[in-house]
Amino acid sequence: MPQSSWDLWYWKSPPGSNWGSSYEFSVDHPPNYLRLMREFGTVLTCMDGRIQRKVSDYLLTSFGVENIDTVTAAGMVRHVADDTERTETILGDLDVSVDKHGSRDIAVVAHHDCAGNPISDKEHKDQVATAAARLMRRHPDANVIGLWLDSNWTVERVRATP
Ligand SMILES: [Zn+2]
Repeated sequence: MPQSSWDLWYWKSPPGSNWGSSYEFSVDHPPNYLRLMREFGTVLTCMDGRIQRKVSDYLLTSFGVENIDTVTAAGMVRHVADDTERTETILGDLDVSVDKHGSRDIAVVAHHDCAGNPISDKEHKDQVATAAARLMRRHPDANVIGLWLDSNWTVERVRATP
């Protein structure tokens, strides 16, 4: 959020001060204490190694955060869309990211050819929509998104079920 950093620096310059040169330098290189970028976002994703780098890169950019806390399980989305033996553990890990790391950006991810959740692509996307809606209810202040990776490993957004 460079615009916000710029504003904050501008307000900190004393009126009539002769800080022009240092001020212009700081627009391009804001000091750490002026950075407003959130440190953590969170992803609940399948453990499949084919999707990790792609999902991480996508979310670092999309959320504009420095780190992505990553909760994994084989076929993750079914444990969030439905109640399984793993659901409470997964949601507990998410809560740690939100409560201790201040995450306000959460993604739930499913993908084509999932060994841990062998259902059709359509059913997968429905589960992503259901799971995203559940996460919105659990963390109403958070930005929650659902992602689907197709047979080309292209990342696609899935709308949450209202
Ligand atoms: Zn999978």
